[in-house]
Amino acid sequence: MPLTYDELHQLLLEQEEKLESRLDIIKSQVREDGVGYSNHMADAGTEVFEQTRDVVMRKQVQRSMKDVRQALTKFTDGTYGICESCGGRIDIPRLEAVPATHYCLRCKTRLEVKS
Ligand SMILES: [Zn+2]
Repeated sequence: MPLTYDELHQLLLEQEEKLESRLDIIKSQVREDGVGYSNHMADAGTEVFEQTRDVVMRKQVQRSMKDVRQALTKFTDGTYGICESCGGRIDIPRLEAVPATHYCLRCKTRLEVKS
């Protein structure tokens, strides 16, 4: 069963909430959230590495948050699920995989090849 737009909306709200709490964790400099990140760096430079990692993670989270919020705005505008490049409808399975996506799969692929 494909998801409905209402369910996708709900999914985005949940994502926003999760991203917010992740950002809080990163901001408060708690280092317990290292799951999935390699720690193979030598002791010297670990501090620098961790700081860099925090900045990178923070940027990633902030970017995702921006995407999620833009997608939520589109629900208000009634433009959710419409590709920003070609104006066509984005397939539901793609929205299920990446609810905050801006482009349909074809445009995304084309844009990625271009850049
Ligand atoms: Zn498109």
